[in-house]
Order: sequence, then structure tokens, then C-alpha cells
Amino acid sequence: MAQEDVFKKIVAHCKEYGFVFPGSDIYDGLGAVYDYGQNGVELKNNIKQYWWQSMVLLHENIVGIDSAVFMHPTVWKASGHVDAFNDPLIDNRDSKKRYRADVLIEDQIAKYEEKIEKEVAKARKRFGDAFDEAQFCTTNQRVIDNQTRRDALHKRYEEAMNANDLKALYQIIIDEEIVDPISGTRNWTEVRQFNLMFKTEVGSTAEGASAIYLRPETAQGIFVNYLNVQKTGRMKLPFGIAQIGKAFRNEIVARQFIFRMREFEQMEMECYRFHDHEKLAHYANAATDIEFKMPFGFKEVEGIHSRTDYDLRRHEEFSGKSIKYFDPETNESYTPYDIETSIGVDRMFLSVMCHAYTEEKLDNGETRVVLRLPAALAPVKLAVLPLVRKDGLPEKAREIMNELKFHFNCKYEEKDTIGKRYRRADAIGTPYCITIDHDTLKENTVTLRDRDTMTQERVPVEQLRALIEDKVSITSLLKQLQ
Ligand code: ATP
Repeated sequence: MAQEDVFKKIVAHCKEYGFVFPGSDIYDGLGAVYDYGQNGVELKNNIKQYWWQSMVLLHENIVGIDSAVFMHPTVWKASGHVDAFNDPLIDNRDSKKRYRADVLIEDQIAKYEEKIEKEVAKARKRFGDAFDEAQFCTTNQRVIDNQTRRDALHKRYEEAMNANDLKALYQIIIDEEIVDPISGTRNWTEVRQFNLMFKTEVGSTAEGASAIYLRPETAQGIFVNYLNVQKTGRMKLPFGIAQIGKAFRNEIVARQFIFRMREFEQMEMECYRFHDHEKLAHYANAATDIEFKMPFGFKEVEGIHSRTDYDLRRHEEFSGKSIKYFDPETNESYTPYDIETSIGVDRMFLSVMCHAYTEEKLDNGETRVVLRLPAALAPVKLAVLPLVRKDGLPEKAREIMNELKFHFNCKYEEKDTIGKRYRRADAIGTPYCITIDHDTLKENTVTLRDRDTMTQERVPVEQLRALIEDKVSITSLLKQLQ
């Protein structure tokens, strides 16, 4: 199946099974805004909980905070966002659509990469087991040509972006003959800068309202609180502050579902450390992206940045207050350096979904859709299913559920055939189902079905909690990190 079709199916699946809905759906949606449904919120909460615990629970020197979305407007001057948090935009005069110039060029780079991948795939099919990819790529003329063009374009693009050279970006679009995907024309305007921050006002106009921004990153809330936390928590360097919260960016291009939203959530951790200039100089200003292979290509999910002492120094300068760290051992005061990890909750959610979504051919010729989510992240851990809606089976099922619901998320379902109910549980990634039948009343045993293997075994009711709890808890995932 083409990757594009896989992605469409995942988006449709998210809506059909209560994971993600378009925002303001009954009003035909709002661009790049999405709402999480009953299953989406559970999965999202589990992702957040896993991240939070892996940071704060497992590290003695990392603590968390929850700072406000609204911040003093000077914060964004100090951070550089007012002057420099821009994307280069370009309009097509025929379609009247607006694009990010850098994204158009990145798509063009990806096209060269796709051409190479197609050549490789064709050759692999032709040569079978004897295929040597490395040799093929260094000798096939079409691959070499595309690689050369891709590398030259990438170099030009990188230089233009680093120099913030809008004219050079425009020239690349013209030279590469990039067309508008909608109108198919090359009737482009020049490239302009566009600030991504949302602006609003606090206070009524009568009081003299002042302009304020919705935070475009959660990190600044950590920077302005770093000394409060350090002092009250008696933290010693190196230490970290973690935060999960909403961020807002007026993204120019709304596409790729929850990958690029105007309101999204970040999980950020700033780790403050002593910076030895000689030894660590090469670390300064380093940045690395962690990418995941989405159905639309490798894309950034997490950014890791060495922000040096830039943010803290700027806040000192703009606030006029000393926020230096006092080292009791050396009796010195200094501004620490900062390493940041910043991951988007929604992009993590999308990566997990894309990885989990599976269409499986069964022995009986049917196809089942199953979300192979890690059990600890699954929205529902156990489906509780009475075989029929009579003979006291629903009552027995409720009794079992009332015991287990305190330990993990259970869902009771009595409608439709058992087969249909299993399929619905598979479609939302429920790792276990139990079926309550007539033997349950006699022997106090149930059928326990495993989502992935679809095997069923008879187990005593009193063993259910022990069998399931450990496998579905976040603790089981956290232990794998140690
Ligand atoms: P991109 O280049 O894709 O716009 P970015 O480099 O601007 O991303 P950062 O500023 O490094 O992103 O933000 C850190 C993380 O926040 C990203 O790795 C991503 O997971 C998430 N993120 C950023 N912008 C968005 C958005 N518009 N929608 C969803 N998640 C986002």
C-alpha cells in the first residue's frame, strides 16, 4: 500500500475510534487545530506520564514545574522571539495559497531522495539476494546524478537559511523550477518573514491594555523560574527542570494532521550545568534532531539544543536582576549553561500511532486492524465482555470489573457478537479481553485473550489482577530504561 494511503487510513482511524477529531468539527474545523477524543486523551496522558516519570521519578536531580502560558511581554524580547521567531513565507499569485519557502525546498530535496529510493527498490527487485546497495549507489548513473543534485541543493539551502538570506531562498525556488502543488504554476511572490507568535491583550482597553503573546515554547517559563527552583529546592549543578505544557505557533502551512498544529503540547527539560570553556567549547550551540519515519518521510519529533548561557544572560540583561548561580563550594557566582531536550507530545503521539497501526490478514481470510500499542500506553487495558446479555453473565462481569477498575483502565461491553467486540478492542489497541461465560458462574474462571497473538487461555478470576497489572503499568516500561 502506498505510504500516502497508509497515512490517510491512520487519520481516518483516529477519528473513527475516538483518538483525534478535527477541532470545532461541526463548524467544518479550524486549520491546524485538533481535539483529542476519549481514547486519544488516554494515550496522550500515558505518553506524558511515561515522559514525566522517566525524567522526574528516575532522576534525583530533575524536578518539574508548571508555569503560566502568559508571560511578561519582555520575556519574548529577551528570548529573541519578537525579533527572530520567523518563518520565510512565499505566496503563489495564481492559487493565492501561502507556503513556507523552506518547506517547499525541503520537499524538493525529499523528491531527489525519493527518486534514489525508487531506483534502489527497482534494482533490489531485479537482483534479489545478490543485491549490493552500497555498490549500486556508487555506480548507477541515475542515482549518482540525483545524489549530486540533492547535495548541491542541500548545501545552497543550508547556506541561505543560516545567513537568513530571503533573496537566496527565492532564487533556489526559481532555479529548481518548484511549482505550486495546487495551481501547478511558478508565479511566486518574493519571500518575506512572518512572525509565528500569537498576540493578544491583557486588561480592558480602558485600563490601557498591553500586548501579550501566547508562549511559542514552554522553555522560557523554566528559564525565568530557574533560580526560584534552584534556591527553594536546594538544587546543585548539574540539575534539570522539566515541564509539560501547551505552546502556540501561528504556523503558515497547516497540514500533515497533528504533526504541525497551531496549538500543541511540548515536553521540555532544561539541564543546567557548569560550563568549562576550554573543555566544552565544542558543545556550544550544538543542535541535534531526533527524527521518526512517518508515512510522509523522516520528520523531527524531538530537538536537542545546547542553548549555552544565552537565555539566562538575556533575562539578566532585560530584567536588570541577577539570576546567577552561587556555588557554595567555590564561593563563586556564575551563569550556568543549558542543554535542552524538547519533544512534541502530539508528534510523539503520531509516531506511536503510525508504528502501532497494523492491518493483518487472518487464517480465515478476514482482515483485522489492530493497534499494536505498548500495553502501558494503550488507552484501555482490559475489555470485560459477558458472552451473552442474560443468565447473570452481565452481573458477574460487572462484579469482576468493579474489582479491577481500581488498578487499570477497564471497559465493559455487552453489545454485538463476541467476535465484533474483539475487533473493536483490537482497533483501539486493548491488550487484553476477558470473556465471562456460563463456566465462569460455576468455576469462577474466564477466558483471557491476548491482542497480539489472539490466543485464549482459561484463568481463575482471582489471578487476573496479578496477570495483567504488571504488564500494563508504566513501571514496566520505566524498568526497561534502567
Ligand atoms: P519544525 O522545524 O518541524 O517546525 P521546530 O524545529 O520549529 O520544528 P522546535 O522549536 O525545536 O521545533 O520545537 C520542539 C518540538 O516541538 C519539535 O521537535 C516538535 O516535536 C514540537 N513542535 C514544534 N512545532 C510544532 C507544531 N507546530 N505542532 C506540533 N508540534 C510541534
